[in-house]
Amino acid sequence: MLYTTYKMPTEGFSMSSIDRESHVIKAVPKELFIDGQWRSAQDDRTFPVADPATGETLCHVADASPRDAAVALDAAAKAQAAWAAHPPRRRSDILARAYEAMLERQDELALLMTLEMGKPLAESRGEIRYAADFLRWFSEEAVRVGGEYRLSPDGKTRFVTMRQPVGPTLVITPWNFPMAMGTRKLAPAIAAGCTTIVKPAPDTPLTMLALAAVLGEAGLPAGALNVLPTSRAADISGPLLRDGRIRKLSFTGSTAVGRHLIAQAGEQVLRVSMELGGNAPFIVFPDADLDAAVDGALLAKMRNIGEACTAANRFLIHADVLADFTDRLAVRMAGLSLGRGTEPGVTVGPLINPRAVTKVAELVDDAVRRGARVVTGNGPLEGPGNFFTPTVLTEVPLNARLVHEEIFGPIASVIPFSSDNDVVGIANDTEYGLVAYIYTRDLARAFDLSDRLEYGMVGVNTGLVSNAAAPFGGIKHSGIGREGGFEGIQEYLETKYVGIAT
Ligand code: NAD
Repeated sequence: MLYTTYKMPTEGFSMSSIDRESHVIKAVPKELFIDGQWRSAQDDRTFPVADPATGETLCHVADASPRDAAVALDAAAKAQAAWAAHPPRRRSDILARAYEAMLERQDELALLMTLEMGKPLAESRGEIRYAADFLRWFSEEAVRVGGEYRLSPDGKTRFVTMRQPVGPTLVITPWNFPMAMGTRKLAPAIAAGCTTIVKPAPDTPLTMLALAAVLGEAGLPAGALNVLPTSRAADISGPLLRDGRIRKLSFTGSTAVGRHLIAQAGEQVLRVSMELGGNAPFIVFPDADLDAAVDGALLAKMRNIGEACTAANRFLIHADVLADFTDRLAVRMAGLSLGRGTEPGVTVGPLINPRAVTKVAELVDDAVRRGARVVTGNGPLEGPGNFFTPTVLTEVPLNARLVHEEIFGPIASVIPFSSDNDVVGIANDTEYGLVAYIYTRDLARAFDLSDRLEYGMVGVNTGLVSNAAAPFGGIKHSGIGREGGFEGIQEYLETKYVGIAT
């Protein structure tokens, strides 16, 4: 057995909370995962992982160098042919076992995630279940990959189309959903028969290392998955993307980095999947169920502390319900409980790092300078940790930066509108196109707006669109490709046709 056996210490969960935390940190591998083995970085470098609620270092993790990336690439390239030839049922069974293991360990995995990322434990558990759903969904899809038979129009050639794995894939993931962004890419890659090299975000490498361990124990062969935590992202991804053996890049992160990586991937004409930033409008019409709209608003805004690409970035509220909606939202936002995500009753954790606090504060200041009014919110909290109080801004002018930029924090900016045409114009006036939310009881209006909104996803009377069975993804600068659903596995498959003269 090539894998070091790794088990989260379930018996530790009768311990005190401090012991439990140190137990979980101690148990997770902190090395690179290459060719089925845990290894130190070749130059022995490590980097620290911090608890965003305290600023304290949780542990150090091996810091992959370009030389480690070269070894990982050799492993992924060497394993590709055998992995592609693995019977689909065996690939499916690996994913199914990983699904069961992830659910069995959800408490421990959730605690690990909360410690390095900050979100409240209940939300971390929710993410673990969501992440596990991709393992289950693609274990079902792995055995359903098929082809087609056609006859040429002149009847002289038979066409057989087949689907084959794209090949070794570089996967780059963000820190905000460190487990789900991993399984959303790795599960379809495994199902399709692609080997992978994963570069997790340096803020949250531990969750990805735990995922590697879960997949390894579920029977993934050596080389099929390689994980390179690193503080030197560009030094790792550049050489990998330039080497002709990587055939695909799957990236989730900011539009700025995505754009840069698309250009690099273009040099080798790589397939790319890009899940980038968002600027979601959350539209409430006067005919909406206002209670449901406020519930949905809270979910769409405050899930993940506002650090979600799907986060409602602009609340576009019809003038007739503007005051009522804003008051109710402000009461709910002010009632949220800020604190370390491990504490009982906490509903809002810290932002990921001090830079995030500075950026959110700048966006609020800019909006206020331009005329926005603060209904609730007190800016950053004094003391340790990256806390920012949930804030509602109203009378937000359309030239405020946060109307056009991703806020990525607990700030609700409220903007009035007066007609359907008016709101479609405001909603579409952005370079992004990930998700839009609409609250209305009028079905015809919901369909009409769904047609006219330039977004990859529309939530009607719901503040949550993420589901492993649905095609997640954006248009415009929000990305290329879809993850999840029937579409998700296609991103990792090439179509080949064989023409047979008859
Ligand atoms: P980021 O772009 O800073 O980093 C994402 C990943 O890219 C990290 O692993 C990072 O280390 C790596 N990276 C950064 N610079 C790089 C470079 N020059 N070369 C190679 N890799 C590099 O984004 P983030 O701050 O980690 O994540 C937040 C962003 O992700 C937001 O914009 C959010 O909207 C987006 N996001 C999108 C989705 C989606 O599905 N559309 C989901 C989650 C997050």
